[in-house]
Amino acid sequence: MTSRLVDALVVGSGVSGLTTAVSLREAGFEVRIWTAEPPARTTSAAAGAIWDPYLPESGDRVLEWSRRTLRELQLLAADPATGVRMVTGIEASRQPVEPPTWAHLVPGFRRCVGDELPDGFADGFHYTAPLVDMPVYLDYLVKRFQSMGGVIERRRISSLAEATAEAPLVVNCTGIGARSVVPDEELRPIRGQLVVVANPGIDEFFWEETGSSPALTYIFPHGPTVVLGGTAEDGSWELEPSLDTAHAILARCAGVDTRLRGATILAHRVGLRPTRSTVRCEEELRPESGVRLVHNYGHGGAGVTLSWGCASEIVSKAALPPPE
Ligand SMILES: Cc1cc2nc3c(=O)[nH]c(=O)nc-3n(C[C@H](O)[C@H](O)[C@H](O)COP(=O)(O)OP(=O)(O)OC[C@H]3O[C@@H](n4cnc5c(N)ncnc54)[C@H](O)[C@@H]3O)c2cc1C
Repeated sequence: MTSRLVDALVVGSGVSGLTTAVSLREAGFEVRIWTAEPPARTTSAAAGAIWDPYLPESGDRVLEWSRRTLRELQLLAADPATGVRMVTGIEASRQPVEPPTWAHLVPGFRRCVGDELPDGFADGFHYTAPLVDMPVYLDYLVKRFQSMGGVIERRRISSLAEATAEAPLVVNCTGIGARSVVPDEELRPIRGQLVVVANPGIDEFFWEETGSSPALTYIFPHGPTVVLGGTAEDGSWELEPSLDTAHAILARCAGVDTRLRGATILAHRVGLRPTRSTVRCEEELRPESGVRLVHNYGHGGAGVTLSWGCASEIVSKAALPPPE
């Protein structure tokens, strides 16, 4: 064992790693982050991003993590510099739909009435939710961590043993990278591609409930720009944007909101949602090593939505004696 310079080593600097590192630091741990790529080049930076528990898994723990994150994001929304804002909008469907299990959590949730829905839609809900400008938000989290003395180091690991040799507590927040570093063959990418365009005056969000379709439709305004979605391509590792896909996204979104017709594409975003049947937020039992290894990955299409809830659970685990 080498000298242990920190209490906790977090591997990964996406939204899971940064939120976990901030939470551990604020709970009094000396924390270092190791990351293969800087925050701006993570899946997290590609996200849209709206608070929405969009996951294969549902149930009480997802609801609790989401509820906790919602509360934090609502507080952060008081300061525009965080990149978080509470935005009102519509989730619409072409078929009748039941309200989501989290309907009671978000402000102003109600079924759409009259002509609120765009043409072709049969049902929908109107509510206010946190919308997060991810590049700005990740920057905010980095600054919050560094202002408390937190250190971020560029370092790619090939196995978690490299990390557990360096600190008594290691938190694995490697997103899709966990597939090889754990290794975890259950983890697979669901590729998402988005388009960023100049905002023609949109100030409400829109997203379409499309079930398991790989073609998503959503419109997330972030001040001068709008993020348009999207795709959910199961098993694809492709990180290059497809121009055909980008034009199809723009056409779908312009079909919902005609102000987007002819919008100028400013940027493309691609990310790999780290997906498995359940989020892995748990301590791995390693009775022989004396080092605690906690996993925090596999958040699929909801890593932003779950971030503060999962981080808070990790802080609670870290404060307790190791499990037998
Ligand atoms: C197009 C798109 C839209 C989305 N929209 C939303 C949304 O609206 N709302 C929402 O809640 N979620 C959304 N998501 C999902 C969300 O982005 C992810 O769940 C979340 O970003 C996962 O964060 P993470 O920190 O776990 O992983 P990542 O952001 O992938 O970060 C992983 C980190 O681990 C590091 N790493 C990986 N391997 C290694 C290694 N071997 N050594 C060292 N470091 C390593 C990486 O460099 C990176 O820093 C969306 C995702 C996509 C792709």
